[in-house]
This record gives sequence, structure tokens and C-alpha cells, in this order.
Amino acid sequence: MKSLNGLGFLLFTAVTVANAQNDSTIIKSIFTHVLEKGSAYDNLKTLCTEVGHRLAGSKGNEKAVKWGEVYLRKIGGENVFLQSCMVPHWVRGEKEVLKTVGDKLPKSFSILALGNSVGTEANGITAEVIMFKSMDELKNASEATIKGKIVFMNVPFNQANISTGQSYGEGYPVRANGPSIAAKKGAIAYTMRSLSSIADDFPHTGALRYETGVTQIPACALGNVSADNLSSALANSKNLKLYFKQTCKMYEDVPSYNVMAEIRGSEKPNEVIVVGGHLDSWDVGQGAHDDGTGLVHAAQLIETMKALGIKPKRTIRVVFFNNEENGRAGGDAYTDLAKNSKEETCIAALESDGGGFTPRGFNIGTTMEKFDKMKAWEPLFKNYFANDFSFGGSGGVDIRDLKDLGAATIGFEGDGQRYFDLHHTANDTFDKVNKRELHLGAAAIASLVWLISEYGL
Ligand SMILES: [Zn+2]
Repeated sequence: MKSLNGLGFLLFTAVTVANAQNDSTIIKSIFTHVLEKGSAYDNLKTLCTEVGHRLAGSKGNEKAVKWGEVYLRKIGGENVFLQSCMVPHWVRGEKEVLKTVGDKLPKSFSILALGNSVGTEANGITAEVIMFKSMDELKNASEATIKGKIVFMNVPFNQANISTGQSYGEGYPVRANGPSIAAKKGAIAYTMRSLSSIADDFPHTGALRYETGVTQIPACALGNVSADNLSSALANSKNLKLYFKQTCKMYEDVPSYNVMAEIRGSEKPNEVIVVGGHLDSWDVGQGAHDDGTGLVHAAQLIETMKALGIKPKRTIRVVFFNNEENGRAGGDAYTDLAKNSKEETCIAALESDGGGFTPRGFNIGTTMEKFDKMKAWEPLFKNYFANDFSFGGSGGVDIRDLKDLGAATIGFEGDGQRYFDLHHTANDTFDKVNKRELHLGAAAIASLVWLISEYGL
């Protein structure tokens, strides 16, 4: 018995080593193909320059749906499918104005309305401004000090965190919840320093969420240089007044679509791995890193497998989710579809929504048992410096609820140090994307998804 066990162990080890060698050869071929022949960068260029920004509900978004459909067909996607969903239709309107009044040296500030914000009165509003340096300061302030004023949230981005995503998360409530907190205390408008690590003057937009039943006040973000300038103006002038005008408006929801395509699994087609990014962007810039890069990361997978003749055992479905930025209608629609499917099981979902930067690894939300299985693949990614597999995380806004179906939710992790310099700004344009970094990320994603399709979870 003892010697048999020993033989069994040796055989098991030999098979494991052979598998690992085979896996590493396939992964090498994936990286080589994407780096030498991948089309992700060229397709991103088309999206950025011919479609441009594409907020849900806009003409650009309609063009992006068509772009996605044509693209996925062109690279050999099977069962190309448009899944309808209703999306919000928010329009920014005229260029926003925020400036000091009654000053000897009037100052103008660089601003963008926050997404989903109401406009000001047609002729704009003029009021005193009151500054807070944290959410706690705002929450603890008395109504008497805020009533009738414009609130200015001058909350710095936490530069001490190594993960910029963590700092963004810490600052997120300032944008999402702050306007309603200020409105409950009688503020008539809301301004904030951008959620950004960089000292330039591009304002960063992004969604706010009005609380039900609370007065909706107009809200905007200032570029960080403008925020410094407003702070100095306040230091020099008590009772400083601002003039603020924006004409943004929310209209009725309109129909739009998720765009998807797949490669059917050769052995277990009913086990599905979802891979995606979001099709919409904010309505400034070109939505290059947020999230054009996520779309081409995902689509490159289909192109690569077709080119290399790799037939995945399980079905791989690429999904371009719509309306991630201001409501997640597409993510909700896809989650409903997956939940109602009787034939299919979603075993894993991966989203790339952190920019097209050099890959570092993946965050993985699943059971410890499944995580351990994936963690054992980490050495295969070492040569590509993408071998940081960390436990936990939601994977991404669009896919996070697929975990309720038992799917592992996986987030692509790139080097995010510069992501929040560009995020939600007019500066998020194609020229900020590096082809090699983008393609390394696409290859890392394709490799992980291939392993899942081969071995299951
Ligand atoms: Zn995004």
C-alpha cells in the first residue's frame, strides 16, 4: 500500500507538472499574440476618436452601441446580442460658471456639474460661500451657519494611501451624498474639490445621488487648482460671495443596450464566464481609460482565442455593460438575465474598470476554497508581473451582484497611480493610453479567463 501510494503521488505530481508546463506554454502564446498582433489599441482609437464620449442616453452612447456590435462581429464573436435596458438621460447644457462677485479681483473657477445634478435658476444664483474640510465638519455644522449659502467642500484626496482606489472610495461620499446632507441644512448649492490626486485644473465630474424627499440643489466639482484659489479667496475675504450658473437637466429615461458576444464552450457550454467593461462614459473627454480600455481588454480575448485556435471548454461571454456611470441599468439588466436563466450557471465574472495600465494582478471575491484554486495559478503570471491575486473585493460595479449566483467576482488590477488624475475629466483621452501596457493587461485577462474555462471553479 505504501509503495502504491507513493506511485500515485508521483503520478499525480507528474500530471500536475505537465499541466503547469502546458498552461505556461499557452499563456506565453497568449501574451505573444496580444503583444505582437493584438488589435485592442487600434479599436480603442476608433472608439475614442470616432465615437468619443458616450454618456448613457446621449447620441454618443447610441453610436457606441453600434461600434460595439460591429467590433464584436468583426473579431469573430459568436451570438452577438444586444440586451435592452432603460437608461437615464441627463444633459449638461451650457458651460458652467462659478466666479467670485464683488471682489476687487474677481476670480473664475474651472468647474463641471456633477452628474445627475439639477441646474441653477435660469439666471444663476449669487450667495455667500461656506467652506468645510471634511464630511464630519459638514455633518456637525449648524443649520444657522449653512442656511441660504453655497457649501464648498474642500476635502483633500488622501495622498498617503498607496491604493488610489482606496482614497477615491474614502472621498466618494463627498460627491455622492454631500449635496443632500448640505441641502437638509438649508444650503442652496454645493461645490466640491475634485476627487483627484493631481494638482491640475481639470474638474472631475461623476454621479451624485439625491436622497428621496430632500430638496435637490445644484452641485459641481472644481478643478484642484481652482479649489486652492477659492480657498485662498475665502482666507482673504470674509463673507465672500459666489455667482454660480449651470443649466444641466434630467430628462425621461430612454432605451439603450448592453452589447455582448461569446465563444461557446466545447465541453461545458452552460457554465459561463462573463468578461466585461462598461460602454458608457462621462460626457467630457473620450472615456479612454474609463472605460474604453476595459472594453478592448475584454474583446481582445475573443480575438486571441480565435487566432490561436484555442477552444475554451466553458462559455466565455464578453459583455459591454451600459450606464455604469449614472445608475448601472446595464449591470442590473444583465444580473436579472443571469438570475433568470434556467440553463446556465455563471461561474465567474471579471470586470476591467480601473484603466488600461500595466497589469499587477486580480482581486477575487469568492469562497476561500475557490480562491485557493485560483491562487495556485499565481506563479503562471509571475513572468508578466501580474501575479498579485488578492482575496476579496466586489470585482466591479456591473458584476458585483453575480456573486449571489455563486460566481467568483474578479476585478482586473492595473497600476492605478495615474488613474484618478484622468478619471471623469476632459483629459481622459486616447493619447493617455500606452499600447504596450494596454496589451499586457488584455493578455493577463485572457490568460486567467482561459484557465477558468479549462479547469472550472
Ligand atoms: Zn468606469
